[in-house]
Amino acid sequence: MPPDIVAVALGVVGLMVGSFLNVCIYRIPERRSVVYPRSRCAACERALEWYENIPVVSYVVLRGRCRTCGARISLQYPIVELLTAALFVVEYYVVGVSPLLAVRIAFGCVLIVLFAIDLEHQLLPNVITLPALCAGLAASIFLPPGLRDALIGALVGGGILFLIAEVYFRVRHEEGMGMGDVKMLAMIGAFLGWKLTILTLILASVGGSLAGVLLLITQRGNLKAAIPFGTFLAAGALVASLYGEPLVAWYFNLLR
Ligand SMILES: [Zn+2]
Repeated sequence: MPPDIVAVALGVVGLMVGSFLNVCIYRIPERRSVVYPRSRCAACERALEWYENIPVVSYVVLRGRCRTCGARISLQYPIVELLTAALFVVEYYVVGVSPLLAVRIAFGCVLIVLFAIDLEHQLLPNVITLPALCAGLAASIFLPPGLRDALIGALVGGGILFLIAEVYFRVRHEEGMGMGDVKMLAMIGAFLGWKLTILTLILASVGGSLAGVLLLITQRGNLKAAIPFGTFLAAGALVASLYGEPLVAWYFNLLR
């Protein structure tokens, strides 16, 4: 099959998976089932018909409003669907058709869900990070980065953030970083190995600092409350998983 047709097909599957990720983002923080019941309007609770549930298309056709009660439908839905479709397509072009593609796409889906939940609720649920950590280690038995690198990655990722959280707590006597971030970076380490985990941490810190400066300049509210670090970890890990290897290779070449 021509590669571009595969990409289009993957993009369509990505839209549908993105629709499911929306359900996860919406329901997991409320500790509700992600498979039952059917999707409902968040305002009037009417169960949605199948044609109101088509990714992106329904949002555009309905002009972002519920058909019966007229309540606004969150822009989050089409954004997550498009982002997931983009993930499927870009990973396909970067990784190619291989077992690693499935693992990287699943990893990316976990990151998208954590990104959105942390942004909205300042929460990184254990029901996501801990099973994903195990899945990452299991996949690494057969696939890159390999089990040894994955174990070191999980220890280094979790360890660094745990130390930072401890030091911050001793110095400031308040919690600066949650254990959710610790588990999340350990999970990232299990999928990407230790080098890309450190790169993720650097990217997330730079991104977080830039956002902090932006918020300071525009003077928008309380800094610490405004920036959930897990959101930046997710974005950093996505970039690292896609483009991290050439970046790390270039850096280690500089050192020689
Ligand atoms: Zn409604």
